[in-house]
Amino acid sequence: MASPDYLVSIGLEVHVQLKTESKMFCGCAVRYGEPPNTLTCPTCLGLPGALPKLNAGAIERTILTGQLLGCETPEIVKWDRKNYFYPDMPKNYQISQFDLPLCLGGAVPLYELAYPKDAQKDIARPGKAIALTRIHLEEDVAKSTHHATFTTIDFNRAGTPLMEIVSEPELESPEETVAYLNSLRQILVYSGVSDADMEKGQMRCDVNISVRPKGQSELGTKIELKNLNSVSAVRRAIHYEIGRQIGEVEAGRPIRQATWRWNDEVGQTELMRLKEDAHDYRYFPDPDLLTVRTTGILARVREHLPELPHEKVARFETAYQITHYDASVLASDRALADWYESAAAGSSAPKKVANWVINNLLAELNGRDLTIDLCPVTPAALAELVDLVESGKVANNQAKEIFAHLFDHPGESPAEIAKAKGFEPADSGEIEAIVDEVIAANPGPVGEVRDGNDKAANFLVGQVMKQSKGKANPKQVTEMVLARIRG
Ligand code: ZN
Ligand code: MN
Repeated sequence: MASPDYLVSIGLEVHVQLKTESKMFCGCAVRYGEPPNTLTCPTCLGLPGALPKLNAGAIERTILTGQLLGCETPEIVKWDRKNYFYPDMPKNYQISQFDLPLCLGGAVPLYELAYPKDAQKDIARPGKAIALTRIHLEEDVAKSTHHATFTTIDFNRAGTPLMEIVSEPELESPEETVAYLNSLRQILVYSGVSDADMEKGQMRCDVNISVRPKGQSELGTKIELKNLNSVSAVRRAIHYEIGRQIGEVEAGRPIRQATWRWNDEVGQTELMRLKEDAHDYRYFPDPDLLTVRTTGILARVREHLPELPHEKVARFETAYQITHYDASVLASDRALADWYESAAAGSSAPKKVANWVINNLLAELNGRDLTIDLCPVTPAALAELVDLVESGKVANNQAKEIFAHLFDHPGESPAEIAKAKGFEPADSGEIEAIVDEVIAANPGPVGEVRDGNDKAANFLVGQVMKQSKGKANPKQVTEMVLARIRG
């Protein structure tokens, strides 16, 4: 567990699969779930003499990511060979980028709602951003599956574009690390660069983590953590590893630089290999690929930069007059934000639409285990329903019933459902009669209202609602009761 006597420094290397049609250095399709080794060619199989060619779409998406995160893109970038031997990479080097990557610097903002729910109340530094070292582009390797006595390899994944985002060690807790991953994912999904789902392996992260006593300025020896398959596993693994490292330091055992793996079933980290020295990958420029001049691509990318989550939040606050919190909830998911905007556009009360989405729609989706993409209710139907409430045609509790009905009968219109359920507003003569009756029967509260106590009217309104069997509109009844008593 974290201790007040120690400081924690965490840096992340995040590999992101880009949403491209074809692979990084050949024309093979990028698709998942195909029969093994069907999406291959001499280049991505690493056969001798096969030559790579560049995927412009992957370069563009990486530069776009850099632009959104405030990175610099060098005018000339180049490709380097990272040499090492492994069966999932038969040409014995990975094409990557060393000293001239596509993006340098930049930062990832930590969004409030990206922290774990239970940690959102006490965020140490709201608005913190984590500096990036670089973002480079490289190729993925094949996928090995280990069986009892043999291993199979599938090259469908080999050569797919992989963007690596490297941060400075500025994260100070497991909760901040969760916020970093969630914020980054949100931005990548927003810009359409990747689906960035950790559970599907579209976003994979290695965590570098060190502890040091408070007051010590140089960082402690870092441990690299691998095999983290979900955001929640990242949080558990870092909590465990901080406790383990502090235990070692307290016991006087020096931390040795090493790679550890997280065992989620056992809930602890395990030593994989010691790093005697930094790997010598003997990087050198790939003689098969030319350098890339980025000026033209950069100009093209800058022409259509997508709106970022925090920009959308600010726009929602002013355009729809909703709170910062509500805007943040709606903007936390691009599909949800789009859904809300299309409902708000069709309604006279966008603020009420926001309340309905946050309080009712999300709960209903949750209860049915649905995402917004699969929401059976259309934005137009919600807009219509909200306007029925606003114009006093249906009461709030009736609207909730109509809303639940809509989920199971998506084609129907809220006004028709209201009619079918007998939610026609009672005619005002009928309601007026009930109001008179209630006023006559309750001289006590009526006296209080007459003396200026508006709250006493709530009781009378409640009585009217009860007698009208919910058909009356509480807002209108309140007005009627007050007008009747005070003349
Ligand atoms: Zn290929
Ligand atoms: Mn890498």
